Amino acid sequence: MRLLRANLLTQILIAFVIAITLGIIFGESIEIIAPLGDLFLRLINFIIAPLVLATLVIGVASIGDIRSLGRVGSKTVGFYLITTAIAIIIGLGLAFLISPGEGLSLDTAVTEEVEVNESEGVIQTLLNIVPENPFTALTQGEMLQIIFFAIFIGLAITVVGKKADPVHRFFDGFAEIMFWITGVIMRFAPIGILGLVAPIIGEYGASVLLPLLKVILAVAIACLLHAIIVYSSSIKVFSGMNPFTFFKGITPAAVVAFSTASSAGTLPVTMKNTQENLGVSNKISSFVLPLGATINMDGTAIYQGVAVMFIAQFYGLELSLMQILTVVLMTVLASIGTAGVPGAGMIMLAMVLASIGLPLEGIALIAGIDRILDMFRTTVNIVGDASASVVVAGTEGEFKERSAVIDSENEAKRKI
Ligand code: ASP
Repeated sequence: MRLLRANLLTQILIAFVIAITLGIIFGESIEIIAPLGDLFLRLINFIIAPLVLATLVIGVASIGDIRSLGRVGSKTVGFYLITTAIAIIIGLGLAFLISPGEGLSLDTAVTEEVEVNESEGVIQTLLNIVPENPFTALTQGEMLQIIFFAIFIGLAITVVGKKADPVHRFFDGFAEIMFWITGVIMRFAPIGILGLVAPIIGEYGASVLLPLLKVILAVAIACLLHAIIVYSSSIKVFSGMNPFTFFKGITPAAVVAFSTASSAGTLPVTMKNTQENLGVSNKISSFVLPLGATINMDGTAIYQGVAVMFIAQFYGLELSLMQILTVVLMTVLASIGTAGVPGAGMIMLAMVLASIGLPLEGIALIAGIDRILDMFRTTVNIVGDASASVVVAGTEGEFKERSAVIDSENEAKRKI
């Protein structure tokens, strides 16, 4: 009973340990619980199309609003897109170097089953983004086409204005409902993980776990590199703020993000920290941060880069340049469409994998450690949002009573 009330992280960790133990004890016969894992994957699959549609429409509609804010809006979105693209490149690069998925001896049967989409040529790939029928795209889960449709609706909502209000509100509510369902699916994660991990251990032995540790390591190092290189330097260059002051000021929000794995849930703390500890004006922070919590997910992009590389290596597949470019593009889009709630990044990973024809079952490999990865990526997600607010405030001269912040720091020191 107490186990049922334990928080999700504890439950997932326990499920993971039980899964390993069962796999070792029962060997291949533990395959019998695989349907639980399949059910979890089906649940993830079933939410993808409506979740992407709803969150992306709302994400783009909120970018649309910013036109009224003109310069600030384009700076913010520009910063978000560029840092996310850098994040995914760091993720892919580090996973390439650490190679967590290599050297695993899988049944050739598994490897043979997997076929990567032959690239159809640039022009055809680009043409395919435009759906001939958006509803067919939705029913067949054609992600790029769904995204195209969602972006158009989001833009149109903004341009049409008042008359589109009911549709805007509809998608807003629909997105909320999708977040709620995502939350319910994540409650099922411990059982799903049991059904996914135990058969893998049963079949391949516990040595299959080593690569997972390497995945955690790759994500953690990439997150650290991204924060140190990208955030520190942009803060220093664009606002003149000492990066240490920045990281110190945002630490409370980072801790909340790490433990809740929800950037949307952390938003109030992120706002408080950026306003009070970093001195960003209310005007800038109340615009940049909520937008960031919706569309800016650098940590998630890092994770998806590492995961794609890991899964490709695991199945012994080499990614072509075209596929890598597709991954970068899709991850940036996925980051816009990822909800700031626990586990959302893993669901969007399915979309990224599908876009280059990698097997969705690959998610099973890392589902067991997803929550741990989620803690790292969510932290980077909110630190990224905060850094954007400092950068934009710096270039706009929008630091409120910065001296007051420094004064209060001095006062705090005096008190100590
Ligand atoms: N949990 C992340 C966040 O809230 C999203 C993700 O799953 O990557 O930012």
